[in-house]
Amino acid sequence: MLAASTAYASRIQRFRLPRVCVAVVGEEASNIIDRAESLVRDNPFMEFRLDYLSNPSASLPKLKYFLDLHPEATVIATCRRAVNGGKFKGSAAAQLELLTKAAATGFQLVDLELQSAEILKAGELAELKDKVGVILSYHDFRVTKKLEDLFAGMKKHPADFYKVVSTATTLYDNVQMMKFLQAHSAQYEMVGLCMGEQGIISRVLGVRAGSIFTFSSATRGEETAPGQVTAAELRDTYRIEMVDAATLVYGVAGDPVAHSMSPIMMNTAFRRETVNAVYLALHAKTLKDLLACVNDIPLRGLSITMPYKQDIVSVLSNSDVLTRQIGACNTVVRGQDGKLYGFNTDVAGVVGPLEQRMMLQGTKILIVGAGGVARAAAFGLKNKGAEVFITNRTADKGQALARQSKSKYLKRADVAKSNFDVIVNATPVGMGANRQSPLEDKELNTKYVFDLVYVPAETRLMKMARAKNIEVIPGLEMFVQQGARQFEIWSGKPAPVAEMSFVVNKALERMAALGGENHEEPPSPLPPRAVPKPAPAPAPKAALPAGKKKAKELMRKPAKKAGKKAVRR
Ligand code: NAP
Repeated sequence: MLAASTAYASRIQRFRLPRVCVAVVGEEASNIIDRAESLVRDNPFMEFRLDYLSNPSASLPKLKYFLDLHPEATVIATCRRAVNGGKFKGSAAAQLELLTKAAATGFQLVDLELQSAEILKAGELAELKDKVGVILSYHDFRVTKKLEDLFAGMKKHPADFYKVVSTATTLYDNVQMMKFLQAHSAQYEMVGLCMGEQGIISRVLGVRAGSIFTFSSATRGEETAPGQVTAAELRDTYRIEMVDAATLVYGVAGDPVAHSMSPIMMNTAFRRETVNAVYLALHAKTLKDLLACVNDIPLRGLSITMPYKQDIVSVLSNSDVLTRQIGACNTVVRGQDGKLYGFNTDVAGVVGPLEQRMMLQGTKILIVGAGGVARAAAFGLKNKGAEVFITNRTADKGQALARQSKSKYLKRADVAKSNFDVIVNATPVGMGANRQSPLEDKELNTKYVFDLVYVPAETRLMKMARAKNIEVIPGLEMFVQQGARQFEIWSGKPAPVAEMSFVVNKALERMAALGGENHEEPPSPLPPRAVPKPAPAPAPKAALPAGKKKAKELMRKPAKKAGKKAVRR
């Protein structure tokens, strides 16, 4: 019944569990305890991966200290077998024995794979379920397929939670997962998500489709599954605790998008202006895949990036004059009628920073490059009355753009002989590991250099310009301005430009500190989790009560009445 709906309704959480469970790994119990101690204040819901331990069974008494000392924590014991994607080399019987011991140790929940459940003796799983909350799980590390068939087999086995984790190879796989969750969450306690870079949609929006919680890593580098994001990202960037049926969904779509700074910038803007919206990085390998998701998720707006800025134009129902003029669109709005409307805010990104500094009417501007951004710059600046010159590595392309935008083409050999008010670099030269400049020192005869490259924050061209006392406009300004216009189009509110600029600047600084700007594919601009100094492992306290009441009973009671093992939220 629910599956037929296109929007995902928020569900009432019958279990008082937080939405984010943090996976904790370590080779020794002390590693897990140290990490858990540093996490527990912000993250009272954790999964201890016993299969990562060198000796899981011998570690349980040590882990008990942590459980006894932290009755506020809800902890899942997982000991995934190697044959099912984990690290535990033992048999299903040995796994069951370990999870039974984990239950006696004080873990409130244990995770058991479907494949293990299928080979246990009759009644063994029910016996385990009598002792502890059981999450029956299934992981597909390749695809998202036949979820219904799979679940028909899963629900034959008794469990408190049914966890289905697949791998997204398309964006639409997330829609399949969320429809699946929506279809069953009224009847069963479901947990579901898609792994992989393309699974981010289900990791964030799965909770409103019926997943009771989702999984995260403690820090970058400690992921226990592909595509896992940190708890801090889920909370701070994507505000997962607030995602509900009314949350509007936006995203940046392109190929690749993993290292886009748009999510951190736009989510900051939504939070600052208290817009109930979330913005995701959508790795669309085809435009068809992206369009298939637009209505089902549903997406309210999209930032379009390479390589789809031109291709998207043909599917728009209407667009602004600039999009039609330039033939490229970077901003899509999905109307109430489900139709797509296009805007080009790259123009505002180029024109805005210049207009803050000068009157463009009659200003002499050289654009280096004739690609997508150069097109936006040429048309936008001509519309403002500037005298625009274009030079390009491939003369034909530069001449064609000059003709179309009613600008003038300048041979590269003539650049050094000319003077300009502004030179705009619209080529990728200087980006990432490329420490080149698109122009030579003698060609920089200008008052301003506007380098549209924004990674790294300081390019070779910018350094050369500063050395000649030429005023520099960094590419960051374009990035923020085009995003600010998008925000305004989508939300109808003025964009918090200062905050947007601040977070991107910080992200660039972090990237520079990590050496990421030296790579073609820089590390994600999202902040690494600030890991507090781990507290020393707690000393045993004999007086603490074992508190081994069954989790599902406790979870149904308010924390106060349920005693030590109650789930707080
Ligand atoms: P594009 O469509 O691929 O166009 C690239 C242009 O640069 C082409 O004219 C190309 O010349 C020229 N070019 C490429 N490599 C060159 C080289 N080694 N030497 C000289 N010229 C070269 O790319 P785009 O979408 O216009 O983006 C261009 C750059 O703008 C990006 O790399 C990015 O750094 C920057 N950008 C910034 C923002 C922002 O918000 N700040 C937004 C988008 C893009 P040919 O015609 O000869 O191939």
